[in-house]
Amino acid sequence: MQLVQRAMPLQMTEHIMCIPLLLAGVLELTNVYFIDTLDGGWVLVDTGVPGSAPRIRQAARQKYGAHRPPQAIILTHAHFDHIGAVRALLATWPVPVFAHVQELPYLTGQAILPPLDPTVGGLMATMAYLFPPSGTDIRPHVLPLPPDGTVPHLLGWQWLHTPGHTPGHIALWQSAERVLLAGDAVTTMNQERPGLAMSAVPEINGPPTYATSDWPAAEASVARLAALQPRTLAAGHGLPLSGPAVSSGLRDLATHFAERAVPEHGRYVGTPARFDATGDVVALPPPPPDPVPLLVSATALVGLGGLGGLGAWLLLRQPRRHQRHGQLRQRRAPYPI
Ligand SMILES: [Zn+2]
Ligand SMILES: [Zn+2]
Repeated sequence: MQLVQRAMPLQMTEHIMCIPLLLAGVLELTNVYFIDTLDGGWVLVDTGVPGSAPRIRQAARQKYGAHRPPQAIILTHAHFDHIGAVRALLATWPVPVFAHVQELPYLTGQAILPPLDPTVGGLMATMAYLFPPSGTDIRPHVLPLPPDGTVPHLLGWQWLHTPGHTPGHIALWQSAERVLLAGDAVTTMNQERPGLAMSAVPEINGPPTYATSDWPAAEASVARLAALQPRTLAAGHGLPLSGPAVSSGLRDLATHFAERAVPEHGRYVGTPARFDATGDVVALPPPPPDPVPLLVSATALVGLGGLGGLGAWLLLRQPRRHQRHGQLRQRRAPYPI
């Protein structure tokens, strides 16, 4: 059985398809996107978690036929859940992979992205203890995106530097149809309550809290994306959204970013990670005190009873925002596609 399973691909527009990748058929993991090119080919955006290659190949076969590799792969950033299948795909599809120049240290074996921060709280943050480090080496396939903002093979598209979640994070923008592929600059679900993928309430939220290492930059990036006034918003996590409420929802997130997106505490809250012009890490704030690794050791001594207690405590540990009563604000969704 494939670990990463199918959900119905969503034909977002005539030329863009969203492929949601699910764990065990239900739990939303991440999205990848197929974009048709004007010369009859296609481009793959992101590659999902490790183990996603069979599902991506299967979806590509169904849409484009056998033996039709993409003309290129574009990576929004180098987190493990977006580059997970890139090496496996390159083994059969040896095509160029494009990423922002400041993300290249993490795609050429030079460095790994700043550690995730499970101490921000919430279910996904708790799961981050289990996530692998983010970085790979896909030389010689990986190339920097053109500095003029154009996207190889995708006429009418622009890449936009949207740092904060990672130093070389990008979004993709198609102005003719006002379509924004936002990567992890925003999410269109509540990552603290992922639930079952297809029943998840769609809502526009900030980037994943446990994986964002520069909150001021992330806020500036959301403001930049909101100014575009997109009609369709498709992110790395959550179902794509379309309709007039997308633009107002994104603007609301940008206006209230500190309350709605930034965790109340965490390793990178107040002191961002710093990077040099190449994107490499210059300085990281120290990790905050975290009782979990100690508790895990103690649990190993006490036995499985303790493990159950630890699990319950982790699941009940709630994320908090800079907000009056520490409550996450509920927001009804714009219209899902
Ligand atoms: Zn990410
Ligand atoms: Zn992600």
